[in-house]
Amino acid sequence: MTAPIERFDQLDLQAPILAALAEIGYETPSPIQAACIPHLLAGHDILGEAQTGTGKTAAFALPALDRVDISKRNPQVLVLAPTRELAIQVSEAFQRYASKMPGFHVLPIYGGQSMVVQLRQLQRGAHVVVGTPGRVMDHIERKSLNLDGLSTLVLDEADEMLRMGFIDDVEWILQHLPAERQTALFSATMPDAIRRVAHRYLRDPKEVKIKAATATVSTIRQRFLQIAGAHKLDALTRILEVEDDFDAAIVFVRTKTATVELAEKLEARGYAAACLNGDMTQQLRERVIEQLKNKTLDIVVATDVAARGIDVPRVSHVINFDIPYDTEAYVHRIGRTGRAGRAGNAILFVAPRETHLLRQIERATRQPIELLKLPSREAVADKRVAAFRQQVAEVLESEDLSFFVDVIAGMEAQHDTEIHEIAAALAFLAQKDRPLQMPETGRPDIAQLASGKPEARAPRDAREAREPRENRGEILERRRDYAEGRLARYRIDVGREHMASPKDIVGAIANEAGIESRFIGQINLFEDYSTVELPSDLSNDTIQILRRARVRQQPLNLRLASPEEAARERGRPGPGGRGAPPKKPFRKEGGFDRPGGDFKSRKPKP
Ligand code: ADP
Ligand code: MG
Repeated sequence: MTAPIERFDQLDLQAPILAALAEIGYETPSPIQAACIPHLLAGHDILGEAQTGTGKTAAFALPALDRVDISKRNPQVLVLAPTRELAIQVSEAFQRYASKMPGFHVLPIYGGQSMVVQLRQLQRGAHVVVGTPGRVMDHIERKSLNLDGLSTLVLDEADEMLRMGFIDDVEWILQHLPAERQTALFSATMPDAIRRVAHRYLRDPKEVKIKAATATVSTIRQRFLQIAGAHKLDALTRILEVEDDFDAAIVFVRTKTATVELAEKLEARGYAAACLNGDMTQQLRERVIEQLKNKTLDIVVATDVAARGIDVPRVSHVINFDIPYDTEAYVHRIGRTGRAGRAGNAILFVAPRETHLLRQIERATRQPIELLKLPSREAVADKRVAAFRQQVAEVLESEDLSFFVDVIAGMEAQHDTEIHEIAAALAFLAQKDRPLQMPETGRPDIAQLASGKPEARAPRDAREAREPRENRGEILERRRDYAEGRLARYRIDVGREHMASPKDIVGAIANEAGIESRFIGQINLFEDYSTVELPSDLSNDTIQILRRARVRQQPLNLRLASPEEAARERGRPGPGGRGAPPKKPFRKEGGFDRPGGDFKSRKPKP
């Protein structure tokens, strides 16, 4: 390569694309863009690896647009993305970069959207289609997506697609595309499984790897707070109050239920907060993100899945309210802040027994995470007083107060009161709704509990407040549910050898499938698998999701337990004693309890 590329006009892109970029305001191509765009324009395949937030979308979208023939209405570019959110985001990016290309059409297609609408849109034609693997597969099968004229395929966020269990679907699609095509694969990390797919389906690809650059992550300040579950909410609000550069936050929790609960609690405390989870319709989710962008909302409480790929530059803070299950999730989470070169803050709450996860994250990201000192009650009060003084000073400076001066002068004369006492009374009135002092609770300040001292970290009562012991009644009730067939025993492919704990399993099931933990019965851990009681009438969709969900990187591959597996209850007699599984409505449909069944049997019915 010759001189380094510092401006977009050094790249051989069409004038309308350069004009759009100038309007958007991108100044220089990011490293992954500078490295990939010339290769893609020259027609080479690409294997591109760069962290999130480094501009991978434009790296493939700009050269793809450059090659699009507007006069043809058939799809020439297909982008596969792991989630609906990302498919929409990539489509929007194409739209922006093509704003000066009249007649250009990009179409996002994803599950959950009406088939009728999609079919109509496809019939109308699009130059670029951005879709999730499942839905694209559907359309290829129905022959509603004609890819004969396809010239470019992009696999975006390939590691994410692997993580979500889409790799077979992606391979299937790759096998159904014209052989004469350009293929680009982009990923934040390059696990072996992705590399294998690349070698199989890419032709002599140019490999571009932008080093786990400090570029994005170093602009994110990472801190952790050692705090017991019961105090997390107070700690969160205290942090939000004292962080100087706070603008907006995404708060991550583990379950859908927790998103709703925490968002409600924050709202009750006066924050503009809302939840974002997989139970919400696409439309609702998009609205929440839009509201975060336009400052109607300041805080979004989300699950990993729902927040994946969100790109809202004003997010100044990512709060890991519940620690993520693995380091990859952590990296994806904190990538929601520090966007487009801005500074960002990532704060991780670490409950007493989660210290090992903190170390694991530090090791994997090779970045130290500083200890956050939670400000004391007095420090918070000082901060509020300072802000109040500032406000008063501003009013004195900018407002015409003559009318009020007269009112006060009248009071002073009438009551024979000192002017500073009157002022104090007014200050009291002014702060009534948002008091300047922190209420005295009679308990130790959480700032002390969160000081990082081991003794202080794990007050017994706090632990129990977070995870209430199950009472005997509940256990008995679940036994009855099992005996009556309302619960069935399922097998999952993670066990003790994967270091899975019942808590991990409950967390994954609750979070991914939105099954409340009270509907999750007994869990038995064995060496390389476990069994878990779940409602016997799980929908096919839920089963699909749980087949793909992961615990400790391991796909659950959920299916009904065999009678032998169901009976293996480690010494405890099974409910009803005989261990025969109750009848399951979906069992006869086939496919679900066979490991690795072919994709047809896994496909949802149209
Ligand atoms: P990735 O896919 O690598 O996670 P994105 O493509 O989503 O990253 O880009 C991250 C952010 O950076 C987006 O807000 C995007 O608009 C912005 N961006 C991309 N390229 C540039 C550039 N050359 N200059 C400035 N901002 C850019
Ligand atoms: Mg991306």
